[in-house]
Amino acid sequence: MRSFPEIADDVATAKRISDADALTLLRHPNLHELGRLANLVRERINGNRASYVVNRYLNYSNVCILSCQFCAFARRKRDPDAFEFAIDDMVDAARQSLADGITEIHIVGGLHPTLPFSFYTDMLASLKALDPSLILKAFTAIEIRHLAERIHKQPIAETLAALRAAGLDALTGGGAEIFDPTVRNRICRGKETAEEWIEVHRTWHQMGGRSTATMLYGHLETLEHRIDHMRRLRQLQDETGGFTGFVPYAFEPENNQLAHIRRIGALEELRMLAVARIYLDNIDHLTAYWISTGLPIAQIALSYGVDDLHGTIIEEKIFHMAGASTPAAMTRATLIKAIREAGREPVQRDTFYRTLRPESVTAS
Ligand code: SF4
Repeated sequence: MRSFPEIADDVATAKRISDADALTLLRHPNLHELGRLANLVRERINGNRASYVVNRYLNYSNVCILSCQFCAFARRKRDPDAFEFAIDDMVDAARQSLADGITEIHIVGGLHPTLPFSFYTDMLASLKALDPSLILKAFTAIEIRHLAERIHKQPIAETLAALRAAGLDALTGGGAEIFDPTVRNRICRGKETAEEWIEVHRTWHQMGGRSTATMLYGHLETLEHRIDHMRRLRQLQDETGGFTGFVPYAFEPENNQLAHIRRIGALEELRMLAVARIYLDNIDHLTAYWISTGLPIAQIALSYGVDDLHGTIIEEKIFHMAGASTPAAMTRATLIKAIREAGREPVQRDTFYRTLRPESVTAS
């Protein structure tokens, strides 16, 4: 096992670290030393820039045929708080947000048993018709598999191609949870395997598409499981280069079957983000998901490897149904102020992390 200074020397000269090194870093007692090391990588790749996207979420339905143990969002069709939005209502919501300057709509839902494939293509096409430059980032890998296998009954590539023809621009990174099969079976029994999640993203990347990657941690997994998860992402990224960013988030233990687990604390989140920045040397961007961490920790994370604070979001449901006490939306002005307070340069980005505008003086 190598020592912290040996690993730090490699990181300083942009050498890749091993899984064993990552474990050493996750166990390193001095969080500030770890943060400084992650900051080196962060500044080498992204300089002083810290980005955010002006986006809104749309959850078309929370009806789902699965019952992942960690999930507080899904409902059966007969449940009183099950919902399904009409496309016209989603278009109205998107139109209002466009007037507020959104550049992206982030769309996910449950695995709905009966909505036809045309619902999904019509939804994408109707939203795209509002503004062709509006980027539609939609669907987790399990939704794509559900659509391909049960609804559209076509291979993954054909299903993705049909969704892209309707307006799909990017895939979300959701549903990765934790890849280890034993833990996966205890937190989301019945969900797709790691290999199946990776297959969807590989197929999309091979079609020229881009996506993000996520990790849900702080539940039943070990530190080794977290590294195993990141190793599989790093391997796929070496192969395709299709991931634009990594978004790890901590498990929220309310209103679900794993409510007995204590939520991990802020220091553990900072540690995880820092090691992710150092280990995932081939994924350019690392997000502190303020919906999960809260804005103050996301600000601190900008000195622990993070270069992105995600977005304005508007109407987040999934984390809030699981007990997150953060706001459900954030204004541009608040994000910009938070980034400046942390000593970074705020930059509005698009879905693909391209700079839309460096902030000058004003923001509303
Ligand atoms: S996490 Fe997704 S697939 Fe699992 S129950 Fe919730 S909505 Fe359904």
